Amino acid sequence: MQRRYRLDWALLPAGWARDVTVAVSASGTIDAVTVATAADRPAGDAQRVAGYVVPGMPNAHSHAFQRALAGRAEARAAARDSFWTWRHAMYAIANRVEAADLRAIATLLFVEMLEAGYTSVAEFHYLHRARDGEWDLAPDGTPATWEAIRAAARDTGIGLTLLPTLYQTADFGGVPLRADQHRFQATTAQFLDAVERRSAADRAAGAAGAAAVVRTGAAFHSLRAVSVDTMREATAHLRAHDPTLPIHVHVAEQRREVRACERATGARPIEWLLRAGVVDDRWCLVHCTHATRAELAAVAATGASVCVSISTEANLGDGFFDAVAFRRARGDLAIGSDSQSTVDPAEELRWLEYQQRLRRRRRNVFATPDEPHVGTALWRSAAIAGARALGQAVGEIAVGRRADWLALDPAHPALAGAAPEAALDHLVFAGARAAIREVCVAGRRVLADHRHPLRAAAEAGYRAVVQRLDAR
Ligand SMILES: [Zn+2]
Repeated sequence: MQRRYRLDWALLPAGWARDVTVAVSASGTIDAVTVATAADRPAGDAQRVAGYVVPGMPNAHSHAFQRALAGRAEARAAARDSFWTWRHAMYAIANRVEAADLRAIATLLFVEMLEAGYTSVAEFHYLHRARDGEWDLAPDGTPATWEAIRAAARDTGIGLTLLPTLYQTADFGGVPLRADQHRFQATTAQFLDAVERRSAADRAAGAAGAAAVVRTGAAFHSLRAVSVDTMREATAHLRAHDPTLPIHVHVAEQRREVRACERATGARPIEWLLRAGVVDDRWCLVHCTHATRAELAAVAATGASVCVSISTEANLGDGFFDAVAFRRARGDLAIGSDSQSTVDPAEELRWLEYQQRLRRRRRNVFATPDEPHVGTALWRSAAIAGARALGQAVGEIAVGRRADWLALDPAHPALAGAAPEAALDHLVFAGARAAIREVCVAGRRVLADHRHPLRAAAEAGYRAVVQRLDAR
């Protein structure tokens, strides 16, 4: 059955509009958007959404299990801590988590995402095997850890693109996986079979009219973990199965990775990946921290998006992403929470802008000729790029898109005196996250009065998991 909503104020593709009526189909897609004139108030049968309504933000890069490490790797463990010493701590968690633990961790994480304004998430998932090393299959035939993520998304109501991730070698040149990487291992045939079965099941559910909030894509962990020959072979299979399937890969996050790639191949990682001829506009390249301007322009020319997670890249000491050069090349830039050291789209966007202010000693770097409000410019472009990265029709309040949005409360002190045009400036730069009063995914209100209904239960479940992990 179609539902109708009347939004007091909404950020539409053409800008802010007042008294907007939105019709949403049973599957959660927006069928019609009507802006009322003063003389033409919408009919009274629509459900009112008070406040300033903006598109929900897709989170284009997440590793859910790493939430259990957030805040727990901030004490110096080596004379010179780095990404690589952090990875040691991360693997220690990865090797203690069972599927049931993962479900509890992801449930709290997805509650936190929804409360912060992420309405969908791409889960880059390489924790496939059980702790004893077996493919541990859920009743539907997919690995139990995949099902754990899917269950957490269903329970919390967040949109999900599950990206099962191929991870086969420890470094360039086919170096075998280490013992602490064994849970990540899959043969190419095992991986493709499971991805294609899972993806076909999602599509069948969508065709049967289920709300289209969950889909399956695929990822290659990195050039260290998958050879380009395997990427070519697997991409050809996946494209034959579904030409629209989103495919993600980590690339050029660390200088050590750049040097290792140059030693092994004679090319830099982004060069080497693009040379493989597999990247198209359904790909998302995660990080691209150590990229030349020519590489960023070449990525933009493929139509692929890039996802950055400034909070994680800063936390891990990765380096600066040249967002200005990528924008200049007309690249699509999405954001993600990655290692979950913090989970907040406003923080990602604030630091995207702040990095450039610090570097250039200027303000309002990412304003555009059409959009002087930096918060709005950043939010809109990241939402649209994130939608492409997830392969989901979200990111805008428009016909054909899914009804994913946030309503900000203008009566909240954090938005005092803010016109709708400035609401996202307050959210991104002035801590107005507390003003997110309700969140809607596929036309269903998943959060009202600032708090997800599962928060208390999710916190209790998470606390119990952390105690279990510490005891293991
Ligand atoms: Zn990552």
